[in-house]
Amino acid sequence: MADCIFCKIANGEIPSEFLYEDDYVVVIKDINPMAKVHLLVLTKEHICCANMFDERNSIYAAKAFEAVAKVTKKLGIDEAGYRVINNCGEDGGQTVKHVHFHILGGQKLSVDMA
Ligand code: AMP
Ligand code: ZN
Repeated sequence: MADCIFCKIANGEIPSEFLYEDDYVVVIKDINPMAKVHLLVLTKEHICCANMFDERNSIYAAKAFEAVAKVTKKLGIDEAGYRVINNCGEDGGQTVKHVHFHILGGQKLSVDMA
């Protein structure tokens, strides 16, 4: 997608620090952190939202959760725990129309921090 900011980050067109990368996903820091640790797992394929996962592309969802496990271990927050969030569509509060998973942690999270 030519004008998608997360496509540009994931394909390196916009330089960003990758905390993790494989053939399917990258992990970056959220520009507006809502917790001590706030990361985003971005798919390398443009998938607009969780509604669009299907049998062809569900490997991206699986790889996203593999990335969650690896990057939280790397940062040492896996044992304490963290929260993974996907906002989908208008009611879900999705602002960037390229599927991504938030990882929030590094502190005790309040129940309404989502
Ligand atoms: P959502 O509301 O679920 O679509 O989340 C979009 C997230 O992307 C927000 O938490 C933003 O702070 C974050 N964000 C937007 N642009 C960038 C960027 N260029 N680099 C890192 N994070 C970004
Ligand atoms: Zn995109």
